[in-house]
Amino acid sequence: MADDQGPISEIPQAYYEGIKAKFAEARDIRLKYRPEGTRQYISDLTGVLADYAKDPHAEEVKPRAPITDTVEVLFIGGGFSALLTAARLRERGVESIRIVERGADVGGTWYWNRYPGAACDVPAIDYLPLLDEMGVVPSRLYAKGPEIFAHCQAIARRYDLYELAVFGTTILSTTWDDKAKLWILRTDRGDEMRAKFVVCANGTLSKPKLSKIEGMERFRGKSFHSSRWDYGYTGENLENLSDKVVGIIGTGASAVQAIPRLAKTAAALYVFQRTPSGIDPRNDRETDPAWVAKLQPGWQQARRMKHIRGRDVDLQHKAELNQLAREDKIRRQENENIDHMMRIHRRIDEIVKDKATADALKPWYMFMCKRPCFDDEYLPAYNRPNVHLIDTHGKGITEIGPEGPVFEGVTYPLDLLIYATGFEVQMTGIYNEIRGRDGREINETYAEGMRTLFGVHTHGYPNLFIMGGYQASFQFNLTFMLQCQGDHIAECIKMAREHGADAIDVRPDTEEWWVQEVIAHRGKTSRNADCTPGYYNFEGEFNRRQDGNYNGGFFQYYTHMQSIRGELEKHFLFE
Ligand code: NDP
Repeated sequence: MADDQGPISEIPQAYYEGIKAKFAEARDIRLKYRPEGTRQYISDLTGVLADYAKDPHAEEVKPRAPITDTVEVLFIGGGFSALLTAARLRERGVESIRIVERGADVGGTWYWNRYPGAACDVPAIDYLPLLDEMGVVPSRLYAKGPEIFAHCQAIARRYDLYELAVFGTTILSTTWDDKAKLWILRTDRGDEMRAKFVVCANGTLSKPKLSKIEGMERFRGKSFHSSRWDYGYTGENLENLSDKVVGIIGTGASAVQAIPRLAKTAAALYVFQRTPSGIDPRNDRETDPAWVAKLQPGWQQARRMKHIRGRDVDLQHKAELNQLAREDKIRRQENENIDHMMRIHRRIDEIVKDKATADALKPWYMFMCKRPCFDDEYLPAYNRPNVHLIDTHGKGITEIGPEGPVFEGVTYPLDLLIYATGFEVQMTGIYNEIRGRDGREINETYAEGMRTLFGVHTHGYPNLFIMGGYQASFQFNLTFMLQCQGDHIAECIKMAREHGADAIDVRPDTEEWWVQEVIAHRGKTSRNADCTPGYYNFEGEFNRRQDGNYNGGFFQYYTHMQSIRGELEKHFLFE
């Protein structure tokens, strides 16, 4: 649902059908230009592309002796998934916890993404986990990157997670030793660590990807990915850009936040757009001290539970929709979403002065086909004389010369080119070289389709837990989902300890039940196929019915987890 208001009932259905036809046209243009789907991108940033993966926030990695010890719980990745689950484990008395992280600190996405303007689009009082436990309240409605990163570090300090943490290290393989009932983790630093339990907490969008553009390696200026911002080049406050011509490829959530700040500082800014984002108002504000004064202990958990159950207005709206026949229900929902998109169009006309630019900034796709964005300075940036929108009409930049990007025969010479082209999505980052019983690689196990319980457990991979992967529920506020999984994982580990078990493994029939649950809730509408390509729909590629999120709703996901935990022996094998 886009808004709380209902549709404007006098509008004839033909109006909505006309807009849907335009959405389909915009989608088809894009699909035609990029038949390679997800293969249009590259995330193996090695060889000539190695600099795009380099950590600009850390010193050169210092040599150290390989680590070969054994811990009880090992987290692959040190972002929110690891931090909030580790906190729950500490509460349950687990002492030996290690985070292994590629970056030089905890924080995950907030460690890497330090581009100017980085901030979270979800109210901080919901997004930042463990606020009750940490006794803090965020300073603003939408916390900015540095505050979120500092919160991550504070959690790590508070729960003693730095003690065993290993930074600047990438796990290369995770292999189950069935005799020892331990996981062996090999790294790029020559380590052979052992752990009883492993939590894959490496994030859903953690590997930067680049659009494969002909000639990109020939570009002679400076270039980097938005998640590897080089402040050494731009200056802390972008002051070094005052005499530079800057270009940015991409107009997703990262670019929408960086562009207004670049617009203010660069001599000239060229935005190379393939598909515009939908921009909603942000209305950020400082946290009201009077509101803070009224908070009772446990306030965040209470908010979370309210969210899981659903807002009253959502429940009422859902109840109304459920009265309707299936087709009417879908139509009404679609019309509401179209109304929302047209409100976004009208705001663009109100703010952006140049008509051609305003028209080019209008997104022609259904609400939520792409991630909605919020930045009150984004649209006004296009009224500045130094900002130029190069709209590629869905084609994208396909060529870069030594001077800069080329579009329709015109070269745009640049000093700095920023790739805001996003991240590899879930599939390979998380499920990299994990070998369970009989040495079976997890991607082989998934060859005929994903097989998990809650996206977390897979039979044959005992004591392994996956966070943020497929077959889990989808939440705009990702940390709601992660906290749900983190609580579940901590409880499973606690129960395994209480049973004195060396290993717990999900039973195949329970796993099969969940696969069927996921299938039963997918493909109810043609929505995914109707959407313009993007990472939400695998760039328009066909995907198997169980290879996506669980669409049965967050409340159901949460409830199923609770009830499985209520009878763990029935659903898990303990050894
Ligand atoms: P996205 O994947 O959302 O955006 C990539 C952008 O690059 C798209 O606009 C894409 O166009 C464009 N692109 C790719 N190739 C080309 C090309 N050859 N020429 C021109 N444009 C091209 O990445 P982001 O980093 O922006 O965001 C990723 C996700 O990270 C978000 O969806 C969100 O979940 C999260 N995030 C959250 C933030 C927050 O809370 N505020 C902030 C930033 C990110 P097209 O649309 O046509 O594919």
